[in-house]
Amino acid sequence: MKTNGAPHWTAADSAELYGIRNWGAGYFDLSDDGAVTVNVQFPDGRVGVSIPKIIEGMRERGWQMPVLLRIENLLDAQITVLNESFARAIAALNYSGTFRGVFPIKVNQQCQVIEEIARFGSAYGHGLEAGSKAELLIALATLEPGVGHIVCNGYKDEEFVSLGLQALRLGYRVTFVIETPTELPIILEASDRLGIRPILGIRVKLASKVGGAWSESSGDRSIFGLTTSQIVQTLDLLREQGMLDCLQLLHYHLGSQIPNIRDIRSGVLEACRYYADLVKEGAALGYLDLGGGLAVDYDGTQTNYEYSKNYSLDEYCSDIVETIMTTLDPEGIAHPVIVTESGRATVAYSSVLLFNILDVTSFESGDPPAVGADEHELLRNLAEVLSGIGGKNLQECFNDAVYYRDEIRDLFKRGQIRLRSLSLSERLFLEIVRIIARETAGSRRVPPGLDGLEDSLADIYYGNFSVFQSLPDVWAIEQVFPVIPVHRHTEKPQRQAIIADITCDSDGKIDRFIDPRGLRKTLPVHALRDNEPYYMGVFLVGAYQETLGDLHNLMGDTNVVSVRINADGSFDFVREIDGDSIADVLSYVEYQPQQLLEQFRRTAENAVRAGRISPQERQTLLAAFDASLRGYTYFEE
Ligand SMILES: *Cc1c(COP(=O)(O)O)cnc(C)c1O
Repeated sequence: MKTNGAPHWTAADSAELYGIRNWGAGYFDLSDDGAVTVNVQFPDGRVGVSIPKIIEGMRERGWQMPVLLRIENLLDAQITVLNESFARAIAALNYSGTFRGVFPIKVNQQCQVIEEIARFGSAYGHGLEAGSKAELLIALATLEPGVGHIVCNGYKDEEFVSLGLQALRLGYRVTFVIETPTELPIILEASDRLGIRPILGIRVKLASKVGGAWSESSGDRSIFGLTTSQIVQTLDLLREQGMLDCLQLLHYHLGSQIPNIRDIRSGVLEACRYYADLVKEGAALGYLDLGGGLAVDYDGTQTNYEYSKNYSLDEYCSDIVETIMTTLDPEGIAHPVIVTESGRATVAYSSVLLFNILDVTSFESGDPPAVGADEHELLRNLAEVLSGIGGKNLQECFNDAVYYRDEIRDLFKRGQIRLRSLSLSERLFLEIVRIIARETAGSRRVPPGLDGLEDSLADIYYGNFSVFQSLPDVWAIEQVFPVIPVHRHTEKPQRQAIIADITCDSDGKIDRFIDPRGLRKTLPVHALRDNEPYYMGVFLVGAYQETLGDLHNLMGDTNVVSVRINADGSFDFVREIDGDSIADVLSYVEYQPQQLLEQFRRTAENAVRAGRISPQERQTLLAAFDASLRGYTYFEE
């Protein structure tokens, strides 16, 4: 607050309020004129581009909200930092192995994402991890032979195995990670038949358990990986076949988003014990694959909260390298090539979901009208509570207000008061609650029952998007992402809101937001202005959200626009993809759009025959139906 009571608000205040410099990782920030910017490092310095400017460019090109904005530079930047952090740790600690990253395709299978990872990653020999046949096809078609590795996890049938084996002949390094004992005979049979020796890995089930949302993927009961006795059987079988030299990689995956560096360390340590003993058993190991788990700091707290991480990337890399060395050096075992399958950390930053706010429901009562002498006694009592607030204690006022409101609702149900009186009572009640909330807002000791009153008065901002399609993890696993208006940051946000989507499902909402002290139930936002769009962004959504999304309420894929930012501060629209049309989503659920149009035409023709509409009206109606089929599934301007 500055002079004469007028709040003076700057972008710096907003940056602090929304924590953007904590979760933005240097990629996102606010400009002095109040816009969210995307920042990219170039050899000659950092370049920032305003997201409102990008939105303007989208509008000029006719793109409707919601749009998934991809920023290619950020994908490249994350591949760079991952590879270079490992390279630095390896050099600093005199480690004699190297680092080879593979990107797990399941984290974002979108063609343009995978193509960019393959293109940009080739300089680092970055490869791909395939968990299914379809993903293996993507990997084979996208990577150049001899550059990045292909690591195959997941269940592999004969077809999968044959294709992978033959790809070895083209110069691809395809490793089959044995996940279950039944896979090995399939691989041995195909290898024998094709006369191609496989490259094998083995997935171990570590006892180490990790914290965070995915702790079930780790520990004895995790569903993947071989038990110790299965490992011994596998070793015996390979030895018997004279194929111990094929076993080159040891793999484990403790789960995604591991917030605590201690868990990362203890996983590496345990895996190194397996590694050492498999080498002693005669396996020709040379690769240690630590899986995924490298976390993203979604809330910017740098803690071991579920949606954060208490370590930097440099710390992650050097802890891994150091742990491997201290475990394997005393055993006299050569340093393995370190493989990681970081998905989330690689792609999360590169996508932002942008949408506009369509409408607001506000629970503000305004000054309620006076209660006439002819109103029911209970209404007059409620009005007295309102006028007496402040004198009595707030708790008592609140209790009285709740009592009268409930009694009045009962009167309405019994038909003893009219709708207008009920409405008056609700407005009085809201005003009372609003005053109590204001009085208790700053105080440190809020009586139980009165805490959270402010949250219950929060506005509902209706966003033009679907949680189920674009942010499925918000609904399914209560994931939090940073959500922030992308403009107007030189104005103090005066409203508190939750965000509802347009699916008309009560779960289609965002009501948990990041906060330095944990989570908050409402988000500070600006009041809408007439005839002026209000845009919000959900950040760090590049991992898992796109393909996990579904067609709830038949809201389809959003438009996707990819930009590349140039060193001079300009940006190019490098790729634009139409979201689903209504005809597209209807055909996903087995309707035939053309046939729907025919059926509707028949109904309209019958109406013409019956004289209910004119032939011209029939034409207008059919044109509207046809245009809708071709239209976007979201709210169009
Ligand atoms: C999902 C998955 C990953 C990716 O994990 P992130 O935490 O996103 O890095 C890596 N490896 C395997 C085997 C997986 O199943």
